Amino acid sequence: MDKHGVRSIVFSSSATVYGEHNPIPYIEKMEIGANNPYGRTKEQIEDILTDLGAADERWHIALLRYFNPVGAHPSGRIGEDPQGIPNNLVPYIAQVAVGRREKLMVFGGDYDTPDGTCLRDYIHVVDLAGGHVAALGYVAERPGVHRWNLGSGKGTSVLEMLHAFEQAVGHPLPYEITGRRAGDLPAFWADASSALADLSWSTTKTVDQMCEDHWRWQKNNPLGYSS
Ligand code: UDP
Repeated sequence: MDKHGVRSIVFSSSATVYGEHNPIPYIEKMEIGANNPYGRTKEQIEDILTDLGAADERWHIALLRYFNPVGAHPSGRIGEDPQGIPNNLVPYIAQVAVGRREKLMVFGGDYDTPDGTCLRDYIHVVDLAGGHVAALGYVAERPGVHRWNLGSGKGTSVLEMLHAFEQAVGHPLPYEITGRRAGDLPAFWADASSALADLSWSTTKTVDQMCEDHWRWQKNNPLGYSS
């Protein structure tokens, strides 16, 4: 901070900015181009911040491209509480496990992937938080615009995630394979080497830990923050 105010900013961007034309794994230097309105908003804000960084060297900017954040604080006291029907996979599974939803609908079982369901790069929210701390430390010393993927570098299928969650809960969960969801890409994950090289940061938590922590939060708070 200087006398004109804060000039360091970390922007929560998303892997969805890579769009559908890039090969996997995604690398920061690829040309971005989102294929959905949410991703377009992330891309537009990245563009504005990139212009700002180029025009005014006092700014220190980190663009963090999140992959699929899941999990909760290991205490079970801080977690995700989506309002209405969850759009995202793990919050939906968690609500099935706690009895708020009848069954998981798996969107597509005929993709060209090992088990036919989509692959995503899931990252524990505590690792994600650590990535922010590391990025802030880096940009504090370096003006300009910096961009990093925050992901594990590994793909996990919908069914693998469901089965990991079942392990955490201790019993099978009901699911049905249904039609594909419009706009879903079959598979993507991060090339996470840039964050490792620049920030000495990489993910530390497994998919099993993501599910255990997410389940602890949901079990302790079946109705979210209102319970
Ligand atoms: N998914 C699913 N059922 C759901 C929610 C999501 O099968 O109720 C799948 C979805 O098709 C995708 C994956 O789970 O392949 C991750 O979806 P999510 O919405 O969590 O993340 P994103 O689409 O942003 O990668």
